[in-house]
Amino acid sequence: MGSTAIQIPSRLPLLLTKEGVLLPGSSMRISVESSRNFQLVKSRLLRGTSVKSTIIGVIPNTSDPDSESEDLPHLHRIGTAGIAVQIVGSNWPKPHYTLLITGLCRFQIVEVLKEKPYPVAEVEQLDRLEQYTNGIGELSELSQQFYKYAIQLVEMLDMSVPVVAKLRNLLDRLPKETLPDILASIIRTSTNEKLQILDAVGLEERFKKTIPLLVRQIEGLKLLQKTRKSKPNDEKRIVAIRPIRRNNQLLGRPLHLDVVEDDDDDGDDIVMLEKKIKNTNMPEQAMKVCIKEIKRLKKMPQSMPEFALTRNYLELMVELPWNKSTTDRLDLHAARILLDSDHYAMQKLKQRVLEYLAVRQLKNNLKGPILCFVGPPGVGKTSVGRSIAKTVGREFYRIALGGVCDQSDIRGHRRTYVGSMPGRIINGLRTVAVNNPVFLLDEVDKLGKSLQGDPAAALLEVLDPEQNHSFTDHYLNVSFDLSQVLFIATANTTATIPPALLDRMELIQVAGYIQEEKIEIAHRHLIPKQLELHGLTPQQIQIPKEATEGIISRYTREAGVRSLERKIGAICRAVAVKVAEGQHKVTNSSSTHVAAKEGKEGVPEENKSESITDTTDVALPPEMPIVIDRHALKDILGPPIYEMEVSQRLSQPGVAIGLAWTPLGGEIMFVEASRMEGEGQLTLTGQLGDVMKESAHLAISWLRSNAKKYHFTNAGGSFDLLDNTDIHLHFPAGAVTKDGPSAGVTIVTCLASLFSGHLVRSDVAMTGEITLRGLVLPVGGIKDKVLAAHRAGLKRVILPKRNEKDLDEIPANVREDLDFVTAFWLDDVLNAAFDGGFPADSKHSILNSKL
Ligand code: ADP
Repeated sequence: MGSTAIQIPSRLPLLLTKEGVLLPGSSMRISVESSRNFQLVKSRLLRGTSVKSTIIGVIPNTSDPDSESEDLPHLHRIGTAGIAVQIVGSNWPKPHYTLLITGLCRFQIVEVLKEKPYPVAEVEQLDRLEQYTNGIGELSELSQQFYKYAIQLVEMLDMSVPVVAKLRNLLDRLPKETLPDILASIIRTSTNEKLQILDAVGLEERFKKTIPLLVRQIEGLKLLQKTRKSKPNDEKRIVAIRPIRRNNQLLGRPLHLDVVEDDDDDGDDIVMLEKKIKNTNMPEQAMKVCIKEIKRLKKMPQSMPEFALTRNYLELMVELPWNKSTTDRLDLHAARILLDSDHYAMQKLKQRVLEYLAVRQLKNNLKGPILCFVGPPGVGKTSVGRSIAKTVGREFYRIALGGVCDQSDIRGHRRTYVGSMPGRIINGLRTVAVNNPVFLLDEVDKLGKSLQGDPAAALLEVLDPEQNHSFTDHYLNVSFDLSQVLFIATANTTATIPPALLDRMELIQVAGYIQEEKIEIAHRHLIPKQLELHGLTPQQIQIPKEATEGIISRYTREAGVRSLERKIGAICRAVAVKVAEGQHKVTNSSSTHVAAKEGKEGVPEENKSESITDTTDVALPPEMPIVIDRHALKDILGPPIYEMEVSQRLSQPGVAIGLAWTPLGGEIMFVEASRMEGEGQLTLTGQLGDVMKESAHLAISWLRSNAKKYHFTNAGGSFDLLDNTDIHLHFPAGAVTKDGPSAGVTIVTCLASLFSGHLVRSDVAMTGEITLRGLVLPVGGIKDKVLAAHRAGLKRVILPKRNEKDLDEIPANVREDLDFVTAFWLDDVLNAAFDGGFPADSKHSILNSKL
């Protein structure tokens, strides 16, 4: 029967198994997770067409605990060729397959032919029929002895169980030489013992190795029987026999014994799972569900799709940190030091965080508002969240909410769906494996809504201290206590956060950084971080402050430091290549850099010596750092992206610079106007909202009613500005929708320039809402807007009088660089926006500003 009649191919793909040892004649379930095994299953088993092609070599992988490492571990020389009789794939929690493999015969590796993507070896088949000269001398004696013990063992079992009867039957029918392997995989043995049996290639040796194990099992059973007998109620059935619910018609041996009292690792994961469940300290309700499910699982044929589902479910239940938590440590002094060392600037935010932590410590509970950091991207919101976790000694997990529009993302799918999964909260808990992590809910302002229910409502339940101690994920279907989780949220803007959620949160605004802060952040944090990431040392690369400044002003335009970090990363990559080339003494570095430099630019001599581009024929010796200068920047990052001079754009009448606030931070915004012959139409272009359009109409009305006073005339010289004239207003730059009333003053200024022919000062930016009567009303986002003006190198900022108080928030050095003009009336705006003020009739009666 079985193995000996089989001829295996001379080349076998090798499956390395971490747990268990497959022996010929038995079946084993193998979970395939490592990428090597994964590739094997994919390309051999799933695509294989003939039976032969599904024969694989199973090698116990004892030497390598980390099966994901790149190099092939040292391979055990002997393995078992097996045939995959069942392959079950699942995508959760990560893609994996479960194979049911039946062992055919031993083989020995002759030579490993290839290692990647999975090992393939030339093999020599062992266990051949002709090796066994059945029944001669000592061997015959041994096999008789073995047979006797085997019968004794089986007969101690409950023969009324059909499987046992069948096993008894098989003992007579099977060739004796197959019995050691088969029994060794049925009785209780350790992995090590199994390995020894696998290695026992000679039959004699194999019998000798197995007999003691058999005897041990028999003795064990005897002992058990005795103890059981002393208990009146217990009957004879001390050993449960579990038919393998497995499809192994191949060898016609559907048997697998398991001694229930065994707490061994005999490879059967359902028993393991059951044991794990019992050992998991989960709440009663959850335990009940698990026990019910495991009962179902035992009865289920493995081929049923539900089998995998249920098993996955139970595995999740076991893995969830029902009771596991880390111990908080909160030392405010240390927290302050840590926050300071991780983050430059952002004093206000750090202060608020410390206060928050202090209050929590005093109150000793978590109930209270959720912290929500609001600010443009890249200002360190996530990073502060991570620091908080570090300070209090908790695990950190980020849940990205951007684009989530289905409540099952938060709350999971019911298990009745195919492919159902738990939601992100439960998934996160499983990942961190403690029940008190810091969860960062990233981008709560980008939650969507769809027919599948409102994720914000689900999130509300998660965040509500009154409810979240019994949060029920649909997949889990039992409640999980979230009350120990510390939630922190981030958002770019509060405008799109659902009000109910907003209500739960304590908002902390994080504004963008000014240039000086960015430089400091770059040198204290970003550059060291990127150097480390790219394996560079300061001996290999130096980025002087001027270079950082250059990157900030010419290659990025952002409130945060995210692109800055990316650009630094790009520089490190380029330098890493150089350094690597240098180390390998590659000499063909007459690189494009050099060509670019000498060909087009004519770089002065002195720059050459410290330029990255100065790779002549010999690569730089490694001890000389590569200094990033202007030319290196240009070579690596390309020509500057933001060099269009503001003054160039303002070189004709009809252009003004406004300040806009967007969720990504403040921005300068050009407003352009032109006029042409027409019928008094106003055209607006450039992604505008309704409020902006209203501002434009207001502006025109104000200009028309003040045309005489200011000598605004149309092309024909008439004070009726719309007479035979069409006006086109354009707000260039971007697909970003701009809205809000704050462009009012800019539109007025721009049109005033158009109708007067005067140029607006090229260093002025402005913001403010207008009224029909020419009042300038206050607007929001002053700090971000002022920072944007400063970034763009402007000198004067015009803002509403009533926003004067907001100037306190502006960092002192920015305030010093800028000249602020506060305006109450539109006249004030115009006076400040044009060189020498704006001539109005009331003051300058004779000035004629004819175009
Ligand atoms: P956000 O979450 O606000 O979009 P991140 O936290 O992802 O921003 O920050 C982007 C990068 O900038 C991170 O690498 C972060 O460490 C760094 N960073 C931002 N602000 C600071 C700061 N003040 N000090 C040090 N590093 C900072």
